[in-house]
Amino acid sequence: MRPDKPEEACGVYAVLAPGQPVANLTYFGLYALQHRGQESAGIAVFDAERKVRLHKDMGLVSQVFDQAVLERLTGDLAIGHNRYSTTGSSKVCNAQPVVLNTRIGPFALAHNGNLVNAAELRHDLASIASELTSTTDSELIAFAIQQAVNRGLDWDGAIRAAAECCRGAFSLVIGTTDGLFALRDGHGIRPLVFGHIGETQQAQWVVSSESCGLDIIGAAFDGDVEPGEIIHFRPGQAEPSRSRWCEQPTKLCVFEMIYFARPDSRFFGESLYSYRVRIGEALARETPVEADIVIGVPDSGIPAAIGYSQLSGIPFADGLIKNRYVGRTFIQPTQAMREAGIRVKLNPLPDVLAGKRVVVIDDSIVRGTTSRKLVQALRDAGATEVHMRISSPPVTHPCFYGIDTDTQDQLIAARLTLEEIAAHLGVDSLAYLSKQGMVDAAHANSAHFCTACFDGAYPIEMDEQVSSSKLMLEPAGIAAKVLQKL
Ligand code: SF4
Repeated sequence: MRPDKPEEACGVYAVLAPGQPVANLTYFGLYALQHRGQESAGIAVFDAERKVRLHKDMGLVSQVFDQAVLERLTGDLAIGHNRYSTTGSSKVCNAQPVVLNTRIGPFALAHNGNLVNAAELRHDLASIASELTSTTDSELIAFAIQQAVNRGLDWDGAIRAAAECCRGAFSLVIGTTDGLFALRDGHGIRPLVFGHIGETQQAQWVVSSESCGLDIIGAAFDGDVEPGEIIHFRPGQAEPSRSRWCEQPTKLCVFEMIYFARPDSRFFGESLYSYRVRIGEALARETPVEADIVIGVPDSGIPAAIGYSQLSGIPFADGLIKNRYVGRTFIQPTQAMREAGIRVKLNPLPDVLAGKRVVVIDDSIVRGTTSRKLVQALRDAGATEVHMRISSPPVTHPCFYGIDTDTQDQLIAARLTLEEIAAHLGVDSLAYLSKQGMVDAAHANSAHFCTACFDGAYPIEMDEQVSSSKLMLEPAGIAAKVLQKL
């Protein structure tokens, strides 16, 4: 069974800090970003001779690394990655970082996002087909950089040239023999921030998918890597070189705001916790209901439930207890583990729920399977009415930019009307936040978000044949693509 939530793509992390234990710092950074990918983890470290040591494996960060491994990863520049597979299956050959050699030395690349032209890129890179060791779009970006360097370009030129070949979502950190590069695609679909450690900014740089990765090692937040920007951090240089490699309208994934990113990560000058409280307030304004208590589906539904409670005056209560030692079930790749799902993770509190009219707030519904079980669990615990409120609009379209939202026919809101979904879930009432309410609650230009999974307005043009399958670069996927083109 597929999960009932969209699934995140990856977390990327990098530390350029001569004299610091960069592998250990990266380990902590990846630990903070664990929610972005739980299938595999890896760290590549450049030593003083610009040689690369790499360790990557399947599993959580805490399973992949121990002190002995980290002690072997000595150096002054580290690239780290947590993976959830959106292109390429869940196996160790697809773990990152990707490390390749060039005529001017090795480089290590970590990627968050998904290319929509991966099949074309692979076709263009036909000469390296026998060298590919994975089925990921990330390795294709790395080979595009390698080829550009080997044609004579320097790191900066080669990375720009490779970026220009890519279409889709890509936040990248790239360690080279000339320091660290960080860049985002022109729309900035996936987030990427940077900061510094220590008293001065001199060559002590950290780049992370989210600011919670800076906080965990005490790094100061300096800002976003802007959409379409490339930043070059060099050892010994107090200020990085910042430039644009392309200009396009900003389209940050709004799902990062409502669900994916951690609530303590900063977007648009505030923590996402504050934004999520406001979308709860907006939800209460738009979809009021008479009830006795408001509960949130832990953890991601809690801030919106607090906001709903604050605006409606209905008391907030903890009606569901989460087992914090169970991972986010929807990120775990095996179907069997997802099947075990919600009862493992959430337990309703009859003392709180019995005899109450309950408003339950969740951040999204994808297939509806988990929500249906949850509603039954609330009724079993004695709730007399269950009113479900969702702090985002109905998910009606799949994502092609690094989030696994299932195919359209699996999305409950693409198949059923609001009334039909309510009946399927077994709720007394169901309402979603409007798209306007969702984007207006952010401290940002409301046009600066990708909202395609809610409205089908995809910001990046795609070939009709583009498949949402994460296995599109597996041999069968390639064959299908070729057949489609004939
Ligand atoms: S389609 Fe949805 S999940 Fe994908 S990037 Fe856009 S808003 Fe995010």
